[in-house]
Amino acid sequence: MQLKSIKQTSKEILTMIWNDEHVSSFSTNYLREHCPCAGCKGETVLFQTYIPEKKEPLPGHSEVKSISPVGSYAIKILWGDGHDMGLYTFDYLREICSCEKCSDSREK
Ligand SMILES: [Zn+2]
Ligand SMILES: [Zn+2]
Repeated sequence: MQLKSIKQTSKEILTMIWNDEHVSSFSTNYLREHCPCAGCKGETVLFQTYIPEKKEPLPGHSEVKSISPVGSYAIKILWGDGHDMGLYTFDYLREICSCEKCSDSREK
């Protein structure tokens, strides 16, 4: 799956258009909550799963500062609190797409 374009349509909404014309709207908050980095999501090392503690969000927590492409398979988001560890692959973004169509097909 390839991303055709990303637009920040408002302070809190990122709209992504896919090359199959599918449109995903993500709230920045939702994206931050789904940050795939080990610090946010935890990681499994030698069958031990480390789950990070919930920290109080810093100011700018879900504010998008910049988006940079990583190769042709992912994007990186720099957040207002300086966090930029998460690599959002296109597959992952499409997987977490919260539109009705995608949520429906996931439930089946
Ligand atoms: Zn993270
Ligand atoms: Zn969708």
